[in-house]
Amino acid sequence: MSLTVGRPSVPAQRYADRLGRARVALAANGADALLIGVGSDLVYLTGYVAMPLERLTMLVLPPTGSATLVAPRLEAMAAAISPAGSTDLVEIVPWDETDDAHALVADRLRSRPSRVLVGDKLWAMHVLGLQAAMPGTAFGLATDVLRTLRTRKDADEVALLRAAARAADRVVMAIAHGPLIGRTEADVSQEIADRLRDEGHDFGEFGIVASGPNAASPHHSPADRRIEAGEPVVLDLGGPLGGYKSDTTRTVWLAGPDGSKPPDPEFLRIYDLVKRANEAAEAAVRPGASCAELDGIARRVITDGGYGPQFLHRLGHGIGLETHEEPYLVAGSPDKLAEGTTFSVEPGIYLEGRYGVRIEDIVACGAGGADVLNETTHELMVVTG
Ligand code: ZN
Ligand code: ZN
Ligand code: ZN
Repeated sequence: MSLTVGRPSVPAQRYADRLGRARVALAANGADALLIGVGSDLVYLTGYVAMPLERLTMLVLPPTGSATLVAPRLEAMAAAISPAGSTDLVEIVPWDETDDAHALVADRLRSRPSRVLVGDKLWAMHVLGLQAAMPGTAFGLATDVLRTLRTRKDADEVALLRAAARAADRVVMAIAHGPLIGRTEADVSQEIADRLRDEGHDFGEFGIVASGPNAASPHHSPADRRIEAGEPVVLDLGGPLGGYKSDTTRTVWLAGPDGSKPPDPEFLRIYDLVKRANEAAEAAVRPGASCAELDGIARRVITDGGYGPQFLHRLGHGIGLETHEEPYLVAGSPDKLAEGTTFSVEPGIYLEGRYGVRIEDIVACGAGGADVLNETTHELMVVTG
């Protein structure tokens, strides 16, 4: 059985819309062009998953007139079969090894553009090359124009994120089924990567397995520690499915095979606080809710329980083509949720030297409230074996 059958996808027509909406936003911004290198903005606008190279690949999108995809000659065929490249949405302009690609980009724009917007992850070597090719032109960030488009997912994007979340849920449940005791974190992490692939992910991108005292470190790198009975394990895993990311965390407790070594009272207390913080934030999701307010709602539960300083990171992050993208759910954020905003809700409590707890779901903001894409239980799973 192929797991890609029936997988949701982004129809080719959608790229025409996205390019159109980007042009409208660009015109409203008053800048002369979007200059988008390899990465998720390029995938979003054209469907082209390009290889990140020192050779420049760049979408040149002015508010009106033709859109160009400048690509190294050896990548031009790959660019030509991308969704936007295979239609007439973008004109592919190949460059040869001895050409100045930055000058070529400048040539595609009207002479002396006053301001251009580059992608926020464009390599410094390309930013400096473009600046040298366009003396007197001001540079800003494409995020100013693309933020609203990227953060409001359409139905196909939510469907892909849901498929990724459900696949990740199946991996969590398989791992929580055990066996875990006596295995190294690295071994379990490898099983997570394999299972993410088996469940339809493009590849397993990360599998944090943090056992015992390591669970107090939110981004612990799994290594050769052996998992023991009488301790928790934080499992935080994910990767892309059809390009859209999963990212979910559950914390399980390892009891002895005969039910000995059950969770201790403090662990049960912090687990309950994290669960209630997660659920309080998810219950407050609605269009117009502020990202800062959601962080505050979760944080209040944990602070009132006496563990405020041990919730040592923000509540969550946007997710889509990237695992971490805008908006960020953090105190002081000016961002508000809209219908179609997708993000993580991942409160945690970390007791250094002892253990930690995190519960993470991916949530889509629906018209009537939270559409929680992960379905794994929030109740503590106790694994024996
Ligand atoms: Zn994280
Ligand atoms: Zn995570
Ligand atoms: Zn996350």
